[in-house]
Amino acid sequence: MAVSTLAAATHADMDHREARIDLACAFRWTARWNMHESVANHFSIAVNDDGSEFLVNPRGRHFGRISASELLLTNANDPSVMERPDAPDPSAWALHGGVHRRVPHARVILHVHSKYATALASLKDPTMLPIENNTMRFYERIAYDLGFDGMGVGDEAERVAGLACDKPILLLGNHGLMVLGPDVAQAVDDLYHFERAAETLITAMQTGRELSVVSHAVAAKTAQQWQEYPDLTKNHFKALKEILDEEEPDYRD
Ligand SMILES: [Zn+2]
Repeated sequence: MAVSTLAAATHADMDHREARIDLACAFRWTARWNMHESVANHFSIAVNDDGSEFLVNPRGRHFGRISASELLLTNANDPSVMERPDAPDPSAWALHGGVHRRVPHARVILHVHSKYATALASLKDPTMLPIENNTMRFYERIAYDLGFDGMGVGDEAERVAGLACDKPILLLGNHGLMVLGPDVAQAVDDLYHFERAAETLITAMQTGRELSVVSHAVAAKTAQQWQEYPDLTKNHFKALKEILDEEEPDYRD
């Protein structure tokens, strides 16, 4: 108890405290959901109005161990960030910085290579077909990047940012998933439900039987109903934090 009390006191005045705690919660749960990949992939959150300053995970840390105070504060307009001893991964700075700089309303960016989203992204036609509630949630809410050309960090950032205008989901063909959100709660809820939706679609496709794809009208209505569902994302994120507060409260440190 003494240790956690001391940690709380030490970090009570850390900069962007709430943003750090929320993003640390997102990392821990992404590991719990087995949607992490080694010590790769990155989450970031903008902390100034134009999105040029953002917090991102430090290099080489496992999602399951990241805590609030160790997130790096970086500047998308300042390449010298990459000369610091604690510089983030080059792809993190280039891709997340590129999108934050060009898409200021994308306050939170979550990028994963989760199993089912990546399987979907690996299909020649990666369209998320509306076949049940979770898949319909993303109807007309996905931008598809079909221009994968290797891990060319500069080109990729520009191409991806160009697609990230008004959709919360970017399915990166031959690569993985990027979720853009106004806050961590919304982005985490989209991340979770997108993976679930992709799992259901891939599983249904594996039966080899014909899919029951609903009409445009039904899919659009259901997607809208998801958006209007009261407090869905807020309550989900609150529940996730409550579990961590009980089982691994050091995410807040
Ligand atoms: Zn990636």
